Amino acid sequence: MTDARTEFTSLAKELKRRVALSDESDWNMKENRQGTLEELKLEVESCRKCPLGLSRIKAVFGVGNPKAKVMFVGEGPGYSEDRKGEPFVGRAGQLLDKILESIGLSRQTVYIANTVKCHPMKNPATPDARSNDRPPDETEINACRPYLDQQIDLISPAFIVTLGSVATKAMLHNEEPISKVRGIWREYATASGRVVRLLPTFHPAALLRNPDLKKLVWMDMKNLRSELEKGA
Ligand code: SF4
Repeated sequence: MTDARTEFTSLAKELKRRVALSDESDWNMKENRQGTLEELKLEVESCRKCPLGLSRIKAVFGVGNPKAKVMFVGEGPGYSEDRKGEPFVGRAGQLLDKILESIGLSRQTVYIANTVKCHPMKNPATPDARSNDRPPDETEINACRPYLDQQIDLISPAFIVTLGSVATKAMLHNEEPISKVRGIWREYATASGRVVRLLPTFHPAALLRNPDLKKLVWMDMKNLRSELEKGA
């Protein structure tokens, strides 16, 4: 693993350079979309389409590059994200940052979002309680899906990486366990018909609970990096 990381340090620098060059050439075409992404963000911030909108503190729209080639999608905001209004903060977020860095990416070069934009709580009556997080249910995911689809349409990523079981099941519409589907390229079609290649992998929080999963995520990131290099 250590040798492999050394090898990837130099390759990551080269990939960063290529992604930056390629992003520059896409900028003029995509910059007009940023305004529309901002409009969508405003819409999400006032959304009450599902009950999660009634108990959230801050809607968590997404962060990153509006012209990103890779979009990472997690399940939903937790306690800290609800307060900061940003996805993947805290320990899982720090680990995600390291995972991105290992293949020459960063929070600034990718786009990070969730299947739902508001914090699902076990007990919405106690929003200040810790350990109150829960995964979003199917109704909430379906209510929020148009926002995710519009984000994908506006950002137009070449690749989506789903982080964890909930996001993967939500986007692939199947019940296969993450351990079976991770590392295997699939496709996701938005409501408008845009088709994007999708790679499932484990959620960073799962890696914190079980460090043995890190080598599998590392394989998935190498897989992603390889596909990025083909298009660079
Ligand atoms: S989770 Fe999505 S659909 Fe539900 S209130 Fe929040 S933004 Fe609206």
